[in-house]
Amino acid sequence: MAQAHCDGCGLPASPEHIALRIRRIELATHFRPVHIHALFLAEAPPERPEDYFYYPAKGRAERGRLSRALFSGLMEGLSIAPMAGEGDEPFLAEFQRRGFFLADCLECPVADIVPGLREGTVRANAHELVHRYGATILRRIDSSYKPRHIVLLSTRTRHLIPLLQQAAWGSRLLLYHGLPLHFPHPDNPGAQAQFRAGMAEIATLAAWQTGTA
Ligand SMILES: [Zn+2]
Repeated sequence: MAQAHCDGCGLPASPEHIALRIRRIELATHFRPVHIHALFLAEAPPERPEDYFYYPAKGRAERGRLSRALFSGLMEGLSIAPMAGEGDEPFLAEFQRRGFFLADCLECPVADIVPGLREGTVRANAHELVHRYGATILRRIDSSYKPRHIVLLSTRTRHLIPLLQQAAWGSRLLLYHGLPLHFPHPDNPGAQAQFRAGMAEIATLAAWQTGTA
């Protein structure tokens, strides 16, 4: 019997891989605004479901360090600080209420897509990944997300810039000094500071609603 293929990455996939993709879609759909004001584009979802951006973690320790760094960096950069509720759910609800949505360029974890990455024998080539999946993300932006603004959340997505410009999304692309934001890596205070400052500047320039109004 032929192995099932994943509708996200198009590769032969285990039942667990397919189930996790569906779970991610369910979580993201739950927090998706009707009209997307700003689309935040990350490269790919993390491997652990608890590290997915839209996972409504109850306590801070449920997310791994990288996931927590991105989550907190984004919420702080956008001045999202809900007064009531516990865990990450109220943050995600406020993120949604402001018309923000986060999507990954690749629907599946990079380690599932690039053979040898998990074993450490190859490195993921960001340019090659965009080459493989750029058309798919553009189709999702054109037909589904239709955002007013697009923000790139890691320098690994920089190869998307010419694709977005050619597809007439260039005027809606909000860059920081001409580049995507640096991923706010927890071991890199400079990248964290740049991420927060860049996010705050983009939010001000785009005149997004901030604060608790
Ligand atoms: Zn997949």
